[in-house]
Amino acid sequence: MKLLQASVCLISLVLVLPSIFAASSSEDFDFFYFVQQWPGSYCDTQKSCCYPTSGKPAADFGIHGLWPNYKDGTYPSNCDDTKPFDSSTISDLVSSMKRNWPTLACPSGSGEAFWEHEWEKHGTCSQSVINQHEYFQTSLGLKQKTNLLGALTKAGINPDGNSYSLESIRGSIKASTGFTPWIECNRDGSGNSQLYQVYLCVDRSASGLIECPVFPHGKCGAQIEFPSF
Ligand code: 5GP
Ligand code: 5GP
Repeated sequence: MKLLQASVCLISLVLVLPSIFAASSSEDFDFFYFVQQWPGSYCDTQKSCCYPTSGKPAADFGIHGLWPNYKDGTYPSNCDDTKPFDSSTISDLVSSMKRNWPTLACPSGSGEAFWEHEWEKHGTCSQSVINQHEYFQTSLGLKQKTNLLGALTKAGINPDGNSYSLESIRGSIKASTGFTPWIECNRDGSGNSQLYQVYLCVDRSASGLIECPVFPHGKCGAQIEFPSF
């Protein structure tokens, strides 16, 4: 009888354990930030920038990354060093990546080092939902779909070095995408607050935009510059 009880116990454990692991791996993050950067604001700081080896990028927002996040504002990073960046898995995307995900860090590079960093720090934490090819393809799709520069220029907000109200910038992106963005500012060489990065939130299955469960911290002025590039 004891033996029977023990084996029933063991069998239930074997049956239950995998579902416990499945539950925890499906709760490994809650949503994504999709982050795009304005190249003019990366380049006009005291630190300056370097154009990629393929030449000066278009005067458009560029992708920074797709970042898994928790609802409490914290985030996982560098989740899997057994899955390094492998450019051969994204060879069909590279020409689009050069245009839409250009690197501006110095020294000049092709972009591979930036993409590798984003995949290894953030992408590896999203593998319960998307693989490496899907990570980059999803990001490219989101860039096209959100068309931030189109949203801003439609509202008369142009990268011309003038200042615009933070409210009008937020409002025009909300009107065009349907979702509230979070705006990150940095400072130009003279110390003026300017539009640097735009955060939009994406549901955990990476299928579309959502309202952000939580916003990052940080502050812009009420009026911020939109520098040219
Ligand atoms: P910074 O300290 O410049 O805001 O961020 C440096 C880097 O930390 C970012 O480029 C990004 O890789 C990571 N990071 C900062 N804030 C967040 C966040 O709220 N969520 C995630 N997933 N990563 C972040
Ligand atoms: P994160 O801030 O996402 O953790 O890391 C950004 C890293 O990518 C830094 O090491 C930065 O030097 C590098 N990087 C390369 N190109 C760019 C770029 O165009 N923009 C930003 N923000 N970082 C870049």
